[in-house]
Amino acid sequence: IDPNSTVSSLLRKHSSERPDDEALRFGEVVRTWAELDDRVRRLASALRAEGIGPGDRVAVLDLNHPSCLELSLACARIGAANAVVNFRLAPPEIVYVINDAQAKLLLVGPEFAGAAAGLRDKLETVRRVLPVGGDADEYEAFLNAHEPDTEPYDAAPDDCFVQLYTSGTTGFPKGAMLTHAGMLAHAAHVAADFELRRDDVVQVAMPLFHVGGTSYAFLALAQGARIVMARMPDPAALLDMVAAEGITHTFWVPALMGAMTQVPGAADRDYSSMRAISYGASPMPLPVLRASLELFGPRLHQVYGMTEACGVVTSLGPEDHADPAVAHRLVSAGTPISGVTIEVRDPATGERLGTDEPGEIWVLTDQLMSGYWQKPEATAAAVTADGWLRSGDGGHIDADGYVFITDRIKDMIVSGGENVYPAEIERVLAEHPSVGDVAVIGVPDERWGEVPKACVVAARGATVDPEALIAYAREHLASFKCPKTVDVLDELPRNPTGKILKKDLRAPHWVGRERSTV
Ligand code: ATP
Repeated sequence: IDPNSTVSSLLRKHSSERPDDEALRFGEVVRTWAELDDRVRRLASALRAEGIGPGDRVAVLDLNHPSCLELSLACARIGAANAVVNFRLAPPEIVYVINDAQAKLLLVGPEFAGAAAGLRDKLETVRRVLPVGGDADEYEAFLNAHEPDTEPYDAAPDDCFVQLYTSGTTGFPKGAMLTHAGMLAHAAHVAADFELRRDDVVQVAMPLFHVGGTSYAFLALAQGARIVMARMPDPAALLDMVAAEGITHTFWVPALMGAMTQVPGAADRDYSSMRAISYGASPMPLPVLRASLELFGPRLHQVYGMTEACGVVTSLGPEDHADPAVAHRLVSAGTPISGVTIEVRDPATGERLGTDEPGEIWVLTDQLMSGYWQKPEATAAAVTADGWLRSGDGGHIDADGYVFITDRIKDMIVSGGENVYPAEIERVLAEHPSVGDVAVIGVPDERWGEVPKACVVAARGATVDPEALIAYAREHLASFKCPKTVDVLDELPRNPTGKILKKDLRAPHWVGRERSTV
């Protein structure tokens, strides 16, 4: 992929070289490269006719649907950008994101029509709400009312063409402006490392508002590989799709894989077409990893990444999953992918730290966003003057160059002056047979400042005995790391990619107090 190319030029290239090859499949909907190109150019004309142009934003509130991808591509042709909304957000958060993006047009799927109508008068900049899919589809008419655009906007490589919001685990979501150059660099690096070619088939399983959905779709698009898109990440349906469509590459999240390993008959399906199953976005519990290895065999790539870097920055390949001699690496996020440099820095001083020293993960890459939309202060806090992205993740790098992610710096517990890493405690507790799911948080303590508390969901058919669990922790952990209390919950609050919302678990314990982590 030429680093100076833009997303629009790639689509033109595929449609002129292979007009009749299949580009995308979504249920019954099949589009060739020529059809996709034609629809995107019509949509670009339609957007222009609505007065939408360079620097503008449009938004999508829908489950996965090809229109979201078409809209992103049409925006790329006119210099605008698609801000894809996380449909799982609460209504006030949805309003926040759409207003923050100053979206002029909103595409709404049938499941969200009622909610969008209820919110309509709060949307400050939206001029038109366009229903897509279902019985009230106005999108098709909107697009078909216009001739294909013939004069694409002359996009610069660092223009934003898709604006994805961070998942908001540490605060309000911020609109990361992902550029043509960043997305194409990501596509080139991942394709090279995961051997993705144009005759491959990429499953787009995760929601398009998440970088794991959108950047996997663009990864395929950049290579000219076929996309098979799922409307929802349904575990059994995604597994069935593998053999039916000959899927070669996919991206899943650990919570989804946990559910997949429980699907009846999962072990009887054929996964032989799969060359790379990437998983990441949140820590992978070891029991789920073991079950997944048994089910899918040696084709797992753990990926670590973030919205701000267009997706993946490190990966742990199948060899490292399979080799018992390096079993400790199973809890690492692997090594940097092509085009990425990782260092561990002191989060307070920015000083570079040595082998095995814990600090903050910093990332240097040409995949970097151009900034957070209209948030220069947040951008300056996240990206240094010389272009390093501060990930907000705590971790270290071992002597072999493997990156270990421990916790969000903000989730780290400082107890009596000692740094306590919740992930270490969670790993121990997750091995206890009564534990189905676990999150460890810091709660206030008169003597120690804060102390660990375990929030636990019982394993199926089991009962959690808090005293016994604390005793078990004491056998495996230094006493300052042992949870002092255990709460048993029905489920843990998670965002759609499976990240535990620790700020929600912490909130009731910190009313009226300030937490002081690094
Ligand atoms: P916000 O910045 O609003 O708090 P967020 O950081 O959760 O949101 P994302 O960009 O969706 O937003 O997530 C990136 C984060 O996900 C990483 O910084 C890291 O904490 C976590 N993550 C990603 N991949 C992995 C992985 N393989 N293992 C552990 N954590 C991961």
